[in-house]
Amino acid sequence: MSKDFHSFSSETSGNYSSLPKSALSVPSTPSGYNVEYSSPSENHTSNFHVTLDNATVSDYGVELLRNGSCKYNCHSYAWHSTSSSNTYWIYNPQPYMNDPYYTNIYTGSPSVTCSSLGLCGNDRIVYTNNKHSAIFAGSPYSNASIGSSLVISKWGKAGVFRHTLTNVPYGYSTIKIYQPTYAQNGIVIPTE
Ligand SMILES: [Zn+2]
Repeated sequence: MSKDFHSFSSETSGNYSSLPKSALSVPSTPSGYNVEYSSPSENHTSNFHVTLDNATVSDYGVELLRNGSCKYNCHSYAWHSTSSSNTYWIYNPQPYMNDPYYTNIYTGSPSVTCSSLGLCGNDRIVYTNNKHSAIFAGSPYSNASIGSSLVISKWGKAGVFRHTLTNVPYGYSTIKIYQPTYAQNGIVIPTE
C-alpha cells in the first residue's frame, strides 16, 4: 500500500490568554489572523485507515494514538485542535508562526538539546519548508537532542502517532520551534 503522507500535508473563541480553540470553531490564529483551510469529507472505510495505520506502525515503529482520518491534518492537529472532532484541513501553518502569541525560540538543525532551549511542553515544531507540524511531548528539560525527543503528530491521512522528532517521512534538516504564551508563562499542559 502506498503511504502517501506528503500529498495530504499540502491543524479557542480565542484571545491572547486563551488555550487552543475547540475543534468546532473555524480556524484562525489566537490573534485572529486568517488561516486557509478546507473541510474534506471522509471517503474511506474505517478499515482503510486501520490498515494504513498498522502498516505505518510496522514500518516506522511509532506508537499509534488515534486512527487516521481524511478530515484533518498535521497542521490542524498541532495548531488548531487536537480533538478527534476536528474537521479542518489547514494548508500552511505560517499564519500561526507569524502570530506574536507564539514565540519562535529556535530555528536550526534538530541536534540542539532540549535543556539548552529551556523547552517546556506544548511547543509546536514545524518541519523543513512548513511540510509538517508536531507538538513536543518529551521531557521539558532533557539533555537529549530535540531530534531524539518525543513529539505527537498526525501523518497526512494516516493516524496520530507518538514518535521521535526525526522518525518521520518528512524533512527535518531545519526545524522551527514555537512556544505559546501560556507556556512562556510556565504553564505546561500534558499532551494526550
Ligand atoms: Zn480517509
